[in-house]
Amino acid sequence: MTTTPFDDKLHEECGVFGVFGHPHAGALTALGLHALQHRGQEAAGIVTFDGHQFISERHVGLVGDIFGKDGHTEKLRGLNAIGHVRYSTTGGSIGRNVQPMFADLTGGGLAIAHNGNPTNARALRRDLVREGAIFQSTSDTEAIIHLAARSHYEFVVEKLIDALKHVEGAYSLVALTSKKLIGVRDAYGVRPLVLGRLDGAWILASETCALDIIGAEFVRDVKPGEMVVITNDGIESLHPFPPKQRRFCIFEYVYFARPDSVVEGRNVYEVRKHIGAELAREAPAVADMVVPVPDSGVPAALGYAAASGLPFELGIIRNHYVGRTFIEPTDSIRHLGVKLKHNANRAKLKGKRIVLVDDSIVRGTTSKKIVEMVRDAGATEVHFRIASPPTTHSCFYGVDTPNKEDLLAHKLDLEGMRDFIRADSLAFISINGLYRATGEAKRNSAAPQFCDACFSGDYPIEPADSSESRRQLSLLVETV
Ligand code: SF4
Repeated sequence: MTTTPFDDKLHEECGVFGVFGHPHAGALTALGLHALQHRGQEAAGIVTFDGHQFISERHVGLVGDIFGKDGHTEKLRGLNAIGHVRYSTTGGSIGRNVQPMFADLTGGGLAIAHNGNPTNARALRRDLVREGAIFQSTSDTEAIIHLAARSHYEFVVEKLIDALKHVEGAYSLVALTSKKLIGVRDAYGVRPLVLGRLDGAWILASETCALDIIGAEFVRDVKPGEMVVITNDGIESLHPFPPKQRRFCIFEYVYFARPDSVVEGRNVYEVRKHIGAELAREAPAVADMVVPVPDSGVPAALGYAAASGLPFELGIIRNHYVGRTFIEPTDSIRHLGVKLKHNANRAKLKGKRIVLVDDSIVRGTTSKKIVEMVRDAGATEVHFRIASPPTTHSCFYGVDTPNKEDLLAHKLDLEGMRDFIRADSLAFISINGLYRATGEAKRNSAAPQFCDACFSGDYPIEPADSSESRRQLSLLVETV
């Protein structure tokens, strides 16, 4: 597995974007993907349809490096396009895994890009291989394409519905045919997908920040279990999958989504500030100032400071120009990475009692280094406050999570974690505090309003494949 060495976070695996009916569909998609770059930094791709042919451009790398060169997006002709940014756990960053994926079906061409994870991907793949399917990649998207190719339905939309009826799990996807742009959310609505409009064109995107970058207007969230089919005649809303209790990913509010996005009707920045305020009420500290771990801890630290009456200070400065080299995540490299990315603002920290606010603790290695850095800069006390409950379980729904055994909160109790990261005190927001910050009165334990499985172990969709078994999908190892 490859990863970035500069943090110890959960990583969203993908972002998707689509345009129907705009003369600059390819360029708009490149811009949309640029706004979604935080959802995946390993690879990006765009497929357009120019009225005759599908045109595909897919590479490993950042969106700006791939599509930012002069005249580059002009090759992506056509009024309709879909695009994808990828952060992978399976198959590494090899080019053949880069989405969107494309296939010629009997009813016409089909390109698909998806965000999320089918939880039965391995079982689907095994059955398809048994029936003679030859997989070119280790991406879950290819299984959806194979299923659609084998469907006996006549039209591509019907084939796609037929394929998705076999897919369990959490996903949002965009698909492109010669005449249609299609958007789908899984029946639980775990992963986000929004609909927008620009100059009469329709837009689909993982987050509203991707609408903002192109000046598109937000229309609505695609509903859980809904398939929107966009043609020259307008938009049609289908509900081919049985409705389930909505379980949107609560970690989108904690960390994944960009703070300027509005997700499921809530502004992410405001939710994060509310989380900080709840945290201040639940876990106050006698201190001189509140310091965020930038950038992800900033909104929660602002909320904590406002609710506690303590001053907010940038006691840690982030270097925004650290390159993203993908190398083996050994502990020694991770430790080096912390110092490349963050530096203590000594003048502010010296002789002070600090409330340090971060969004989450995963393995704890980075948290430990940051506490050490703040102490070395002269802080007399470090009270660590975390804007999410302890992350005790792995995610199987399209998020890169370590094995459960590597999660600090799975291995240690609160005092053990405090001792490991060497803070004077450590506190996490409660699960009900997190729900309150989203506007809910509390978590409904009989029917939780969100997916919170990484905190609770309460998985809305039982993972049919274990994370270990998902890691080896092909016997071929490529080094590209
Ligand atoms: S397990 Fe956690 S990260 Fe995964 S979808 Fe659920 S809330 Fe989100």
